[in-house]
Amino acid sequence: MNTISLRRLCFVLAFIVLIPGCEKRTSKISKCVMNLHTIQIIKAEWAPEFNQPSNAIPTWEDLKPYFPPEWSNTIPVCPISPKNGTYIINRVDEDPKCTVCGDGYGNF
Ligand SMILES: [Zn+2]
Repeated sequence: MNTISLRRLCFVLAFIVLIPGCEKRTSKISKCVMNLHTIQIIKAEWAPEFNQPSNAIPTWEDLKPYFPPEWSNTIPVCPISPKNGTYIINRVDEDPKCTVCGDGYGNF
C-alpha cells in the first residue's frame, strides 16, 4: 500500500468515524459547512498528487476521484438551499464558497 492510498484510507475512515459523531455534538455546524470543509480537504489531496501550485483551481472533474462516498460521484449542492446554492471551488490556497452561505458562516 503506498502513501497516497493510505492517506485516502485515513480520510475515508475519518469520515466514517468522526463526522457522524461531530454532527451529534455540534448540530449547529451546518451540512453546508461540512461540504465546504470536504471540498477544501479534497483540494489539498488533489494538488500534491498532480504537482499543482497553491494558486491552481481544480475542476469538479479533477476532484471527482476524491469525492466521499455519500456524494455518490455527483457535484454537491448546498443542502440548505439546494435550488440556489452551488459551490465555487476556488484556488487550492483559498477556501471554497457556497453561493448562498458564503464560507458557511455568513461571510462572502
Ligand atoms: Zn450553502
